[in-house]
Amino acid sequence: MNITGIIMKQTKSKNELLFDKKESYWKSMSTNEIKKVFTFADEYKSFLDTSKTERLCVENVVKILKKNNFKELSSVKTLKQGDKIYKLFKEKVVIASIIGKENDCWNLIGSHTDSPRLDLKPNPLYEHSELGLLKSHYYGGIKKYQWVNTPLSLHGIIYTKENKKIEIHLGERDGEPKFLISDLLPHLAKDQMEKKASLVVSGEELNILFGNMPLQDKNVKEKIKLNILTMLAKHYKMSEQDFNFAEFEFVPSGKAIDIGLDASMIGSYGQDDKVCVYTSMKALLDAKKFNKTAVAFFVDKEEIGSTGNTGAQSYALLNFAQEYIQKTGLKIETGKLFENSKAISADVTAAFNPTYPEVSDPQNSSYLGKGVSVERYGGSGGKYSTNDANAEFMGHIRSILVKNKLPYQTGELGKIDVGGGGTIAMFMSKYGMDCVDVGPCVLGMHSPYEVTSKADVYSAYLLYKAFFEE
Ligand code: MN
Ligand code: MN
Repeated sequence: MNITGIIMKQTKSKNELLFDKKESYWKSMSTNEIKKVFTFADEYKSFLDTSKTERLCVENVVKILKKNNFKELSSVKTLKQGDKIYKLFKEKVVIASIIGKENDCWNLIGSHTDSPRLDLKPNPLYEHSELGLLKSHYYGGIKKYQWVNTPLSLHGIIYTKENKKIEIHLGERDGEPKFLISDLLPHLAKDQMEKKASLVVSGEELNILFGNMPLQDKNVKEKIKLNILTMLAKHYKMSEQDFNFAEFEFVPSGKAIDIGLDASMIGSYGQDDKVCVYTSMKALLDAKKFNKTAVAFFVDKEEIGSTGNTGAQSYALLNFAQEYIQKTGLKIETGKLFENSKAISADVTAAFNPTYPEVSDPQNSSYLGKGVSVERYGGSGGKYSTNDANAEFMGHIRSILVKNKLPYQTGELGKIDVGGGGTIAMFMSKYGMDCVDVGPCVLGMHSPYEVTSKADVYSAYLLYKAFFEE
């Protein structure tokens, strides 16, 4: 019998079993499940609207944790099964945990609270040609031309000379003024349009409109700047010097929106990575059993390389682990705890965009609506700068997916040599824990309007919850 003969004899159903066919998650949903997916998305959108910066995101997470009876780690002396605690670090990192039946190992999910944005330079304010402007310095990887002609809101944290904290939030609520970087008109853009896209708007051209009205004072030359400084002093008790020492962040203004005739997608700034912050937080709150200690790590500075004392390369997690070991009374080293632990780096990946198919390998891409994406590695060409998950741990993730009949897809960010990007996976795995990237795919990542599918957002939540319950 030849090989063709064998194939001919197999039944259709057997053939289908041989193939790995991943279909849209929407297809398998009941009406009831679709309702759940949409309700979940509405709550997620509200979270996005009030979590524009890493500080606001962390503030919201803590608020929700407190409402769910989580206690500050510093306020408890010992930790036992079922205890719910969190540690807030520098207002930019939160580590939340529910102590499991086995407490010498963690099921850990890490996500990042920061998103690309425009920060201010240390000396930002100037007056030129009847305008008051602010010089910005972008944070994270952006296509700069996407950030002009789009309304921005301002979020500032200042410690005054007297070390008094002042917070400014302006440009999100109805009736509040917003801010804008004005692009060149097409009529006079002949030379600009000849430039390559990375130079169409340069870093030094990201200057934010801040005022136009002069304050009448014969003795002062910069009357518009004076008016701005007078207003800042009056409303926020701040001076020009305060700019040198403060944190000012400008982000796209406006609420998350439904996209599409069927409202199946979400368009919003900052879904990378607040989608994973929100879904992993909800998973922690909704999980029913904790065989192992569940830990949700919400970390800052991913977009600039996970650096600094609030990034994933810092000792934030290690310090938490030491306090955890001491308060649970465990008799093991932190290294051993980490080696016992399993982790998900919860971060977004690129969705296949049919308008730009040339950057993706279609059979190794993620598609909106096909469920959460499991990516064994990220990085760039030749698997540089990534954690390349091992078969043992991939097997563990697979068993969770299969056992719980969860929708998922798997692939890579894009074609091998066209670019790449990192996550916190490589920094978490450094401790000795197994780790893999798992998160929803996104269209237009790092733009003022990132797009996700509501199905994928819900699917991420389901997998994170099952992972915590494992
Ligand atoms: Mn990310
Ligand atoms: Mn990113």
